[in-house]
Amino acid sequence: MLRSRHRPVWLWLMGLFSVFAVTGGEPVLAQTAPLKVTEWVSKSGPLFDRSGIIEGPTEIGLVDTQFTNANVHRLIADLIESGKPLRWVYVTHPHVDHFNGATLLRTAFPDAKFYAQASAIPLFAGMVAERQAGLGAAAPGGAPNVTAPAPTFFEPVPGAGLKVDGQPIEIIRGFGDHPDSSVVWVRSAKTVITGDVVFSHTHAFTGDHDDIPGWIALVKEIQALKPDRVVVGHAAPDVRRDASVLDEQIRWLEDYSAARAKDPSADAIKKAMTAKYPDYANDFIFVFSEGVRKH
Ligand SMILES: [Zn+2]
Repeated sequence: MLRSRHRPVWLWLMGLFSVFAVTGGEPVLAQTAPLKVTEWVSKSGPLFDRSGIIEGPTEIGLVDTQFTNANVHRLIADLIESGKPLRWVYVTHPHVDHFNGATLLRTAFPDAKFYAQASAIPLFAGMVAERQAGLGAAAPGGAPNVTAPAPTFFEPVPGAGLKVDGQPIEIIRGFGDHPDSSVVWVRSAKTVITGDVVFSHTHAFTGDHDDIPGWIALVKEIQALKPDRVVVGHAAPDVRRDASVLDEQIRWLEDYSAARAKDPSADAIKKAMTAKYPDYANDFIFVFSEGVRKH
């Protein structure tokens, strides 16, 4: 998964210090190696969460933490074998399938910082109570046995932003399957890690808000970045990851909106959407979405 652990130091140095400028006799770094983004996919369902591992020459940042205990342990094993320190973990939005692994990750990497948006942090504990059992019931081994993180567990993203080996990581906020969602743009890798703003061949959760136009607007904002690779929030392990998933997500959201406007019952929406997208995963999500809807 991460192939750098035996790479000789001189290879990194060649990549890192490929161009020097000289100012007052001191060498100045004029070009840095692009960051590498590895898409880490759950090895077991039902949700097939995807995390993004952002890797620089000497350190790693992680976006989203996985849901089931089994998958978090597998992720931890791969991070350990990278041979590089995990500096920080960023959670894209306050849904339990994205932050549930944080507690186990902290045990494995006690020096890592855990970040989320300040507005999202107070919502984490309630999400554990409300969603964990329902989503985890179908997971191998049952519901993940992870307690809610304490309010002080996560820190707000610092004003200076997040970096990997000095390179800034850009965060764009907006609507996804939660009204306080965000995506992570790794410019030098032309890769976007979307959390649950974009899915691929997978039905999306829609129970936390009604602003589908707002959601579509954020997908269009991602399109404007012209990414080469899109690390989506959920998808079966073998689906593609190029920017065409963005068009598909917009089409799915428009079709969902039309289906719900016609008949807002969960059964009717499920019937309409599974007829239109028969090969999409997670068709249980329509009943789940309407079951937790509060507005
Ligand atoms: Zn999710």
